[in-house]
Amino acid sequence: MSRRKFLGWIGAAGLGSAVGKSALAGGGKHFEGYPDSFGVLHDITLCVGCRSCEAACARVNELPAPEKPFTDLTVLNEKRRTTAKTFTVVNKYAIDGRKAPLFRKNQCNHCLEPACASACFVRAFQKTKTGAVVYDPSVCVGCRYCMIACPFEIPTYEYDEPLTPRVMKCTMCYPRVMEGKLPGCVEACPKEALIFGKRKELLKIARERFRKYPGRYVDHIYGETEMGGTSWLYISGVPFSQIGMREDLGVTPAPELTSGALSAVPVVVGLWPVLLMGIYAISKRKEIIFNQEREAPAHETAAPAPAEEDL
Ligand code: SF4
Ligand code: SF4
Ligand code: SF4
Repeated sequence: MSRRKFLGWIGAAGLGSAVGKSALAGGGKHFEGYPDSFGVLHDITLCVGCRSCEAACARVNELPAPEKPFTDLTVLNEKRRTTAKTFTVVNKYAIDGRKAPLFRKNQCNHCLEPACASACFVRAFQKTKTGAVVYDPSVCVGCRYCMIACPFEIPTYEYDEPLTPRVMKCTMCYPRVMEGKLPGCVEACPKEALIFGKRKELLKIARERFRKYPGRYVDHIYGETEMGGTSWLYISGVPFSQIGMREDLGVTPAPELTSGALSAVPVVVGLWPVLLMGIYAISKRKEIIFNQEREAPAHETAAPAPAEEDL
């Protein structure tokens, strides 16, 4: 391990220590989110399952082409999850008593208080003022706590990337939004089943639709309060459980729920630099001894080997 690389790890551990503490400190108070942040409203009553959003997402994120083309709608016959190569999937739901199936797009919900971020002790995830939860692979240590923590089972991992595997998920098209562009999927949706805008305006649009079309929607905006709220919001004509969405999440933000589990993390994280420094010192001493032995005259190398505890 080079000193540079080692110090990089130490730096990451130090950062993690700060995050671990702040996650705990913040556990008692509710973060309302950035008031002018953006989000997306998915009106499930308008979605026709065309997969144009999936194709656009792959294009704007330069993701590899799938096995079957995006025009092949037979893939909708299986329930799919996001993968390291697919940041969003549309699933089809047959509903009792309804002739036509319903379709729902799935991706990172960009939680106001993200469980992925609160579980990550090197602070690889950040809730930005745009609303997007972004990930920095340069500090990620690959522990994959984020994958365990996410209640929506969203982050995935590049298991087949041997050198620099990353956690992968929808970015809410953060780079495009920063350039004043729409997220790729929103721009591509031919049915306006996806609306991008300020989250507070999207909530108003959703309520206005409830008022304007009585009986068309269930009276709930999914994501307004779930897990403390999400930037991605959904309205539907059937209960959300019928289209594969968890209704058992409650309104408590993730950091409050995980503060108990996270309480163990600062201890580990606090010790981590010490442990790593110890490992580094041991490996460095072994390296010095190895070099000394290699350079020493033959008779000196015949000296007794140092005891294990000296290394
Ligand atoms: S949906 Fe999961 S991955 Fe996305 S911000 Fe929320 S906790 Fe993180
Ligand atoms: S917001 Fe961007 S990254 Fe997320 S699903 Fe849409 S196109 Fe993909
Ligand atoms: S592009 Fe729009 S209508 Fe088509 S599947 Fe995606 S969300 Fe539904």
